[in-house]
Amino acid sequence: MPVTEDARASAWDGRRVQLDRLGLAAAVVDWADGTLVGATDVGLRVLRRVGVATHELPRPLPPELFDLLRSAPLGEPLEWNAPGVSEDVCLGCTGYPLGPDHVFVVMRELSRQHRELSRRLHRQRLEITGRLVASIVHDLRAPLASMVFNAEALSGRVAELAPVQIEEVVDDLAVAARRLRVTVDGLLGFARLGPRDRVQASIDEVFERISGLVRPIFRARGHVLTVARGPGATSVAASPLVVEQILANLALNASEAAGGPITVAMEARAVPGSARPRIRIRVRDDGPGIAGEVRPHVFQPFFTTKDTGTGLGLTTAREAARELGGDLRLEPVDAAPGACFTLELPAGPPDERASGGDRP
Ligand code: ADP
Repeated sequence: MPVTEDARASAWDGRRVQLDRLGLAAAVVDWADGTLVGATDVGLRVLRRVGVATHELPRPLPPELFDLLRSAPLGEPLEWNAPGVSEDVCLGCTGYPLGPDHVFVVMRELSRQHRELSRRLHRQRLEITGRLVASIVHDLRAPLASMVFNAEALSGRVAELAPVQIEEVVDDLAVAARRLRVTVDGLLGFARLGPRDRVQASIDEVFERISGLVRPIFRARGHVLTVARGPGATSVAASPLVVEQILANLALNASEAAGGPITVAMEARAVPGSARPRIRIRVRDDGPGIAGEVRPHVFQPFFTTKDTGTGLGLTTAREAARELGGDLRLEPVDAAPGACFTLELPAGPPDERASGGDRP
């Protein structure tokens, strides 16, 4: 049967999927015998380019491709190279169940560079996930072990223990439980801080809200927050909420590291000479700074030097900055005291109403 609109429409019952209406590369395969029963126009083009004949449907899929599809659970992405076709082009495909007898296959054409890149990213993701899981386990295990130990100490022995001993064990239990709560809260924050809606976030407004946010703590501890911006640094293309959380995190970190009153200075500048305009917001404090042996670890998940820290603040902040197309860096040590971080983000469009000079 030649591939005509009618043939493809009748290849599937038309009630569940109307292939011709789909603008993606997709095909329907009979799961019993590997017959390619239908495909979208884009799907047919992709199949032809990777070496699969499509001139008459229904027709059997190449047996190697059908075997590959059946070899992995549905939903798992697969890559296939037609025998005799250049390795530079290959088919990426993922099958999804479509009723009891058919599979809906979403496809894309992959170039060699594309494949190598996607493999590298996949490997990296696995590594990061593995490290993250290991750190979570590490962070949860100690307080959990302490709780189990203390609960067992109490179990069935309450009558033998003096009230003061019971109080000690219960106190330890409470400390471990609080520690767990801090970790879990940190994980929730880690999951939540993402690139929400990207809008033109005004630097002045972001600075104003951060000042309000940290004011009570800064006032109580005698710290000072100063903000300034250069003439071109009026807005960033980002979610203001995320930018505020990143900057507030940096300010609070500086405050927590300080033994006494400090000044935290935030300064936004347009980055000159780059193809796409960017804004650099430098956050410098004059506190104790970050020791040489600590510096390489500050962005690692769960690295903290604080008793009640989660070690997720900077990890989360940097991830969020990167998702917005920017970055967060710890600046090298220079003559000035304290620590200095730089948040870089894509600039918003030029603001006609921008003020001329710096804003103290
Ligand atoms: P947490 O605040 O929970 O420790 P972070 O990821 O925010 O987690 O910070 C990691 C570590 O980086 C902190 O424990 C601290 O040792 C160090 N640090 C971050 N900012 C500063 C700063 N401004 N001054 C000194 N140390 C800092």
